[in-house]
Amino acid sequence: MDYIPIIGLEVHLQPKTKTKMFSRTPAKYFGLPPNTNICPVTLGLPGAMPVPNKVAIEKCILLSLGLNCSINRKTKFDRKNYFYPDLPKGYQISQFDKPFGYNGFIEFDLKDDSKRIRIKRIHMEEDTGKSIHTKDSTLLDFNKAGVPLIEIVTEPDFTSSVEVDRFAKRLRQTVRYLKISDANMEKGQMRYELNISMRKTNSKRLPDYKVEVKNISSISVLQKIIQKEIVRQSELLKKGIKPNQETRGLRDNDGNTATQRIKEEADDYRYFPEPDIPPISIDKKIITKLSRKLIELPQNKKHRYMQDYNLEPDTAEILISNQYKASFFEKCIPSAEQTPVKIKNIAKWIVQDISKYCKINKIKFKNFNLDPIYLVNIVQLLEKKQITGAIAKKVLNESIENNSDPLKIIETKKLKIETNIDTIEKFVDEVISQNAQVVKDIEKNPNAIKFLVGQVMKISKGKANPQIATEILEKKLKI
Ligand code: MN
Repeated sequence: MDYIPIIGLEVHLQPKTKTKMFSRTPAKYFGLPPNTNICPVTLGLPGAMPVPNKVAIEKCILLSLGLNCSINRKTKFDRKNYFYPDLPKGYQISQFDKPFGYNGFIEFDLKDDSKRIRIKRIHMEEDTGKSIHTKDSTLLDFNKAGVPLIEIVTEPDFTSSVEVDRFAKRLRQTVRYLKISDANMEKGQMRYELNISMRKTNSKRLPDYKVEVKNISSISVLQKIIQKEIVRQSELLKKGIKPNQETRGLRDNDGNTATQRIKEEADDYRYFPEPDIPPISIDKKIITKLSRKLIELPQNKKHRYMQDYNLEPDTAEILISNQYKASFFEKCIPSAEQTPVKIKNIAKWIVQDISKYCKINKIKFKNFNLDPIYLVNIVQLLEKKQITGAIAKKVLNESIENNSDPLKIIETKKLKIETNIDTIEKFVDEVISQNAQVVKDIEKNPNAIKFLVGQVMKISKGKANPQIATEILEKKLKI
């Protein structure tokens, strides 16, 4: 009997805000000395009154709109009761039955098709503090307590780790495009919770158990956990054993997990409406205002590039992976169309050489500074075969370094392809005299001609037209 995985995700995202979710204490906590960024609301001291953060709520609604959700315009906050040492109030302020966003979806591409994952809900809540476990005690740092959190819950629509990977990347791009968060996973700004079970291939019913893994802060680790869980659960099921309904804890970055807590029933958090925060109604004008901030999002951008510029899916995917990369590409288009040069070639240079340059030199695309016309000029000379590919790369690098005009670099350094037959003939003569043995053996070794052309290119510093060089060589050596 075969099984397929049924996977759902919960994503916790810290929106970028100046202050905490329910107090005006700064939301910054990274790298601060412990317990220096706290206040009575953070600590849940008696009488401290929470006041919701408008910016955080607007970001939650904007993300909901960006992920095609309906919006609950009459909503409220609720108390989610549970005890945890780094949850100072003994409850978390969250949302229960009226999340800001519900019934949305996100789309990404697989090999031959697009896939849509349904978003069940997007709600607003607050982060916990941090427990630091030492050898014989646990220390508590409440700086992070009360930092805004957006929680995105999907339906169990994933059936492979690849789908989860594509989703996670598309979501992270969307969040960055809309400037909701930097979504820096290393800083814990985006964390994943996974639930996974295995369903019989020929059954439509969801399995009657589910395994959860919490606090996953890397997309690659998330993938590894899924792959290991698929193997572990399938092996149990094939032996006729139903896997435990449990929460498993991550043991290492290879995706190994171990039982943490076996739970027979769903948790009961005894939710009730937060008595210290009045119900919220969201004016239609706010929705209109936020809707105007909805720029073209990654999936749409990708498909437009494929349609308008006939780009390969992989090329388009790399361009849209970073909105600043996409925006540089778009800035090149008007002059590329006017020149004209092939948009496909522009895309290729951005995806390959410029991306490589930025990676090697640790330049963020956000700070990448090259006049788009300069790239267009380089591609034009290459298309007209006035410079070689090798020279184009060198000139591009130099042009990026000083944001300088490639046409001037090429002129000053005399880098245009040499097509003058007399000049190339001089290079050829030099090569023949320096490689007497190769010339002697030319009949025995048919590849020798390629070697000699290579030598001509070398001494001409890549400028000789290789076709002309080959013709002159063949004539001189009577091949
Ligand atoms: Mn949560």
